[in-house]
Amino acid sequence: MASLNWRYQGNNGPDQWHKLYPIANGNHQSPIDIKTKEVKKDPALGHLKISWNLSTCKEIVNVGHSFHVNFEDKDNRSVVTGGPLTGNYRLHQFHFHWGQADDQGSEHTVDGAKYASELHLVHWNSDKYSSFAEASDKPDGLSVIAVFLKVGPPNEHVQDIVKALGSIKTKGKKAPFTNFDPSTLLPGSLDYWTYPGSLTHPPLFESVTWIIYKEPITISSEQLAQFRSLILTNHRLPQPLKGRQVRT
Ligand SMILES: [Zn+2]
Repeated sequence: MASLNWRYQGNNGPDQWHKLYPIANGNHQSPIDIKTKEVKKDPALGHLKISWNLSTCKEIVNVGHSFHVNFEDKDNRSVVTGGPLTGNYRLHQFHFHWGQADDQGSEHTVDGAKYASELHLVHWNSDKYSSFAEASDKPDGLSVIAVFLKVGPPNEHVQDIVKALGSIKTKGKKAPFTNFDPSTLLPGSLDYWTYPGSLTHPPLFESVTWIIYKEPITISSEQLAQFRSLILTNHRLPQPLKGRQVRT
């Protein structure tokens, strides 16, 4: 399997990733199934403080296995702090995961239940490191904020993204994508789960402090079909917890 050849289906699918990326069988892999009865209440965990500035939103790119909305991250205009995090984590990009049908697609599951899609907002530790690349393999390098999406009425903010997909139909294509406020994709409730994990696709670095909102937002079946017009499916199944504790 060539390093750039990993896929979500077929011969180079997730159950083969360990051949080129042995960390796929590591002790802090993601996603996981969140067993709500085993979550530990941690009074020391404070509110998450999100300050994203829509001026940092830059472009949308077809990366083959997904599409990314990229942010300008030369300075701390868009950061998250607080909660389980020490210091500032700067917004780098966001993307979604989805499945080949509406009854699957999220990476994390809750008591075994799957959502139709999952949004990942990827941040890197800008207090300790000088770039996303430098931070990406460090244990305290990254934090990903995850939001579940369930099927429901069309989401007008997701629609802004869907409208841009027409100009990035093939791998490598990019288009300007500006003045989008990612906080419009957050749920009303600020309650979250957190645990130490990894990137969910190669190189699968165990460098992610996961912050997963409990309350989902909505996406319509038609909007999910538009995601699938780029790639049919792009989610990894839950991995063993291996002694880790999920906190809330
Ligand atoms: Zn992701």
